[in-house]
Amino acid sequence: MKIFLDGAFVDAADAKISVFDHGLLYGDGVFEGIRLYSKNVFRLDAHLERLEYSAKAIALKLPWSRQQISDWTCEACRLNGLTDGYIRLVVTRGIGNLGLSPRKCPTPSIFIIADKIALYPPELYSTGLEVITVPTRRVNPAALSPAVKSLNYLNNILAKIEAENVGFQEAIMLNDQGYVSECTGDNIFVVFKGEVLTPKVSSGALKGITRDTILDVARELGVPMREVDLTRYDVWIADELFLTGTAAEAIPVVKVDGREIGTGKPGPVTARFIEAFRRRVSIEGTRI
Ligand code: PMP
Repeated sequence: MKIFLDGAFVDAADAKISVFDHGLLYGDGVFEGIRLYSKNVFRLDAHLERLEYSAKAIALKLPWSRQQISDWTCEACRLNGLTDGYIRLVVTRGIGNLGLSPRKCPTPSIFIIADKIALYPPELYSTGLEVITVPTRRVNPAALSPAVKSLNYLNNILAKIEAENVGFQEAIMLNDQGYVSECTGDNIFVVFKGEVLTPKVSSGALKGITRDTILDVARELGVPMREVDLTRYDVWIADELFLTGTAAEAIPVVKVDGREIGTGKPGPVTARFIEAFRRRVSIEGTRI
């Protein structure tokens, strides 16, 4: 496997970052997870725009153009002979001293890993996931905006640990007002009385690229859609529920906190969305 690292493609064994990199010392950096479908990178421009916004929000000046990063991303896929895959694009603050200050880190690092994707088992897309709400709250946007896709994922990791400790693969996280914000690595959608509802980004959710795609799909299908405050009650009484993310795509949820959602089986609206989503990923994208 060839990894892109700071201007060159190197073998995986040689793709190394300094122990003085603040990405490692402090989680000071930003990243993207991107999908390659049939040699097309899905919504690459949207991912690179979000990367730029994340970098801007943490005052990290990207010394590369969007075109350069785009070219390197496509090259990483080509060089590794991929047709379908998952791309991890990471920018770290770079090498500094042991203090916190990013001013001591003059040169950010960039690396791009293009690899095969490890999906949820395919049967889960037809049987649906079971999830729980975990005690760990989504970090307050006034402390660190969850809209920043930063290398600081401990908040989500703690929630993931809580879910896995009791046998679940994914968890619903509430914000500090008690509203549903998102899952540890996915956005959440409720179908209720013919409408599709999802938490606002201001509730502490990441502005998911898949979430945006689902909002486009809702317009395409003519299904009414709203961004709202959702409580756990709203989730429990939903007719249908599904999660979205670059890795998970769109996946039905059939049980939350021990309550069956709707009929306890993936619902028809979810199925329409999954189908329309799959159609889109097969036709949209940047050719590598
Ligand atoms: N929320 C969180 C916390 C995530 O890590 C992700 C995955 N990157 C998402 C939502 C889904 O975002 P996207 O559709 O852009 O992958």
